[in-house]
Amino acid sequence: MADLVISEDFFNEDKKPVGKTSHGDGENFHWIWPVNTGENGAAFSDENVKAAYADKGEEQVPLGVHGTTVAVDWDSCVAAGSCMSVCPVQTFQWYRTEQDIAAADVVDKTFEGTGLTEQDERLDYTDKSMPIREHDCTVCMACQEACPTGAILIEQANAEWHEKAAGTYVKMEGGGNPHAHD
Ligand code: SF4
Repeated sequence: MADLVISEDFFNEDKKPVGKTSHGDGENFHWIWPVNTGENGAAFSDENVKAAYADKGEEQVPLGVHGTTVAVDWDSCVAAGSCMSVCPVQTFQWYRTEQDIAAADVVDKTFEGTGLTEQDERLDYTDKSMPIREHDCTVCMACQEACPTGAILIEQANAEWHEKAAGTYVKMEGGGNPHAHD
């Protein structure tokens, strides 16, 4: 297993999400967090990725971390697709196979979840693994173990931060009032 690259404080009390990507079901979404590895991420030194950006005539810019409980560092994602092949519930999709737009522009967009989900179905190597069905994750850990660049961090406990950022967090205290808001 590759060393994980997402630092534990990819979010904290002071870090707010830069936006979110919504699911077309009108209910679910995943947060996008500030740049973590940035230009130190594997995507900035990967020859396939660099060549694909050049072919497209698109500038490669830091993209941050997509997802909270299923966190994917898009600056380290080299579109290997290992996560796609191992995920039992198709949490991920190749975002460009649904909307072929610059990765920086998925912030605050809605995706229907109709993108392709097989390992080699990437549009090209500028494509990224989008955790569009983060809410379906069964925490099997297979993607975290399979990712060749350590770009995925699975942590169910981070659900609290997803909810805090959404303003829907309800603090559960032992024997306390389950409706007490933090
Ligand atoms: S932990 Fe398992 S279920 Fe969750 S996104 Fe990764 S492969 Fe899919």
